[in-house]
Parts: sequence; structure tokens; C-alpha cells
Amino acid sequence: MSDVRNVIIIGSGPAGYTAALYTARASLQPLVFEGAVSAGGALMNTTEVENFPGFQDGVMGPDLMDNMRAQAERFGAELVPDDIVSVDLSGDIKTVTDSEGTVHRARAVIVSTGSQHRKLGLPREDELSGRGVSWCATCDGFFFRDQDIVVVGGGDTAMEEATFLSRFAKSVTVVHRRDSLRASKTMQDRAIADPKISFAWNSEVAEIHGETKLSGLTLRDTVTGETRELPVTGLFIAVGHDPRTELFKGQLALDGEGYLTVDAPSTRTDVAGVFGAGDVVDHTYRQAITAAGTGCAAALDAERYLAQLA
Ligand code: FAD
Repeated sequence: MSDVRNVIIIGSGPAGYTAALYTARASLQPLVFEGAVSAGGALMNTTEVENFPGFQDGVMGPDLMDNMRAQAERFGAELVPDDIVSVDLSGDIKTVTDSEGTVHRARAVIVSTGSQHRKLGLPREDELSGRGVSWCATCDGFFFRDQDIVVVGGGDTAMEEATFLSRFAKSVTVVHRRDSLRASKTMQDRAIADPKISFAWNSEVAEIHGETKLSGLTLRDTVTGETRELPVTGLFIAVGHDPRTELFKGQLALDGEGYLTVDAPSTRTDVAGVFGAGDVVDHTYRQAITAAGTGCAAALDAERYLAQLA
């Protein structure tokens, strides 16, 4: 059992590293668990990031995260590339246990474990991520000017992505497993009225093609089983996100979709001394800059919480 720290941060994306930077600069000596396999978070899996302010010519996702990490470390954040496998957040002193069974203790905990986009589970999906396959139209739409694009999904996010992408794309085909959409009527109406958007009903993506870049898809009819080829250079997958909150079930309030709930605009959870930041809280924006923003807010909230304990 270690000494009691001021603050432990779980997660190392833009939210976790920003919280680490701010708490380190406030002399709180944060201990950051970065995750065993995915230290740096979601942007480690992408190529160019063009919408993080301060980088006129864009920045590669892994470079941005390496810089955030180094900046937090420069001010004294202690970074550990390991997973937290269990937590007890109930008392004044919180405990978190790493994958080797070591228990770490702190007065405050910042949860910034991010969320995971759902995948189609097809071969080539991961290899072509950032090379034609994307999960974020706001992030990547700009790269698909005058191209033929598929959006997979039938909910609000899929309709929003399709409508947004139609500004840039030559054509957008929405591929949906059923013959009607789950999206709200307003979102449906907007997509259906858009002359650049067409619908492949009762269809699913059966295969993703391309060696170094996406070159096309095979679609399968979910009723007849027939297949057909679609030569597209963009595939946006909008079939949902799963926040990484498994660890916190039964300890922190989660909403119906499993996101951590906070007393917005603060980052306070329903347990004193525990704060939530980034995509693990965020249904709506899911951007690096918004995650960094709430990471900053969580650090300031934790700092104030610790000050009033003193
Ligand atoms: P994440 O970045 O997801 O980081 C969460 C971290 O928590 C991970 O490091 C994980 O290892 C760690 N973790 C989880 N569980 C544990 C645990 N139990 N113990 C220890 N650590 C744990 N946004 C933009 O603004 N611009 C873009 O161009 C852009 N492009 C994107 C491209 C791709 C392919 C993807 C997937 C996303 C993109 N995004 C982009 C979105 C952006 O990456 C996210 O909004 C942002 O990373 C969320 O930050 P976060 O800190 O909340 O979580």
C-alpha cells in the first residue's frame, strides 16, 4: 500500500494529460495511470489532426499526444503505463489497484478513461483506419472533398454525419441494416431531403477493400443475402460508442448509456472527491479540444476540493 497521494488520474488521452498538466503545475504531484496498451488515448490511432488549435499546419495524432505527455511530465506528473483494474471510491481516501495488484491511495481521483467507438468487426477495418475508414466526420470530413462516401448506421449520429459530409462529398450513401431509421424525425427528414444523400436499405457492409487506402466495399442485402460492390473512398462508421465505465459500475452514477454523469458545468461526480472528464462523460462533442477543456476543469475542481479539505 502506497502513501496517500493528492490526486490519481485514470486515463491518458487529451483529458487525462491536461488534468495531469494542471494538477502538476498546482504542485499536487499527480499519479497518472495511462493504460497498458493504449497510453495516449484515441489520437494515437490516427494520422493528421487539423482541428487542434495552435497547429497551423496540423499535427500527427501521436505527436500531439507525445507533446501533451512530455508537457505534463515536465511539471512533475508521474506517469505509469498500466491499467487500473479495480477501484474503491467510497471513502475520503480512495483506492485504485493496478494490474500487478498494487493498491494506490489518493484524496481525489479524476476519471478520464474515454470511450470506444463500436466497430463493424471486419477484416481491414483497423488497417484502413485513417486511410479512408473513419469514426468522426467532424474530424475527417474535410479530407473527403468530392469523394464518394458511405456512412453506416441508422441513428441520429449517422444522419448528422451524413448531412455534415454531404457538404464536402460528391455522394453519400447511408448503409442501414433495416428498412427504416432509428434517428429522430427531424434528422431523418433533413438527410432524406439532401440531394447528395442516398440510402442502401436492408444492407450491411460485408467486406472492406483496399491495400494502403480504402478502394471500395462489398454490401450484402440483409434480406436476400445478395452482394454488390460499391467503389467508395470513404467509410464513416456511426454505429455507437461505449464509454469505458465498467470499473465504476455500482460506485459512480452512470446514465442509461453508461456515461459517467457529472454536475455540469462542473466535473463533480456524485461521489465527493471524484471528477470526470473527456469522452467518458461526453455524448455530444467528443473532440480532443473538448476533452482537454474538461480535463482542465477537472483539475481545477480537484484542486479546489483538496484546498477545502486542508
Ligand atoms: P481517450 O483519448 O480515449 O483516452 C482515454 C485513455 O484512458 C486511454 O489512454 C486509455 O488507455 C485509458 N484508460 C481507459 N481505461 C483505463 C484504465 N482502466 N486504466 C488506465 N487507463 C485507462 N478529435 C479531434 O478533435 N480531432 C481529430 O482529428 C480527431 N480524430 C480522431 C480520429 C480517430 C481515429 C479517433 C478514434 C478519434 C478522433 N478524435 C479526434 C476524437 C478524440 O480522439 C477524442 O475525442 C479524444 O481522444 C477523447 O479524449 P479522452 O481523453 O476523453 O479519451
